[in-house]
Amino acid sequence: MSCSFDLTHYAEVLEAAKRGRYRFTTFGEPPSRGDIFLRHDIDLSLEAALTMAELEAEHGIATTYLLMTESVFYNLASSEGVAAIARLRELGHAVGHHAVHPNVELDDRFDPVVSWHNPQAEYMSRSIPGAVNVYAEPYFDPPTYRSDSNQHWRSGCPHEELRGGGFPWLQILVHPEIWVYQGGTMGLTMRSMLNADKARRLEQLAADGIDLS
Ligand SMILES: [Zn+2]
Ligand SMILES: [Zn+2]
Repeated sequence: MSCSFDLTHYAEVLEAAKRGRYRFTTFGEPPSRGDIFLRHDIDLSLEAALTMAELEAEHGIATTYLLMTESVFYNLASSEGVAAIARLRELGHAVGHHAVHPNVELDDRFDPVVSWHNPQAEYMSRSIPGAVNVYAEPYFDPPTYRSDSNQHWRSGCPHEELRGGGFPWLQILVHPEIWVYQGGTMGLTMRSMLNADKARRLEQLAADGIDLS
């Protein structure tokens, strides 16, 4: 099994967790043995989020999608953004806020779950009134946390330990963009995301009545 950042290996990670008898759960109850809190901070692409959400649903898994209200890359208030939230809900996923500190917006689009975008140490693990902070106790503890930041698992890809039941419980952060779009490096993966986005933008321009001749 090669630990590449693509949807084939992503599905293998999900199946490894099932084999290790883990159960996928959403933030609310404190962690108990065998829980996996799989969360997605959506920094760049709602399309990638939806692709991953569909794949998880095919595997019978519900996870937590944290969406930004202040992204420079997508607009949650647009028709696309509204449709994305509706589809995530329809697939059974939880939807929380990926917030830019200190702006927590917990309106009725979101479950009361917050992850900070690019968090700083001084506030990262502080409790947030009325919401779960995924970086705070009891959900956040470095030995039971794995993140795929910039296509690099700091403590290694978790699939082997998941399959063997090696974690008591685990929180995993997965960024859909770096699995859905392909490239040999992070830079190439981002460029392939931008190429896909260009095609989408041209369709949007045509739909908006812009003469592209
Ligand atoms: Zn792996
Ligand atoms: Zn982020």
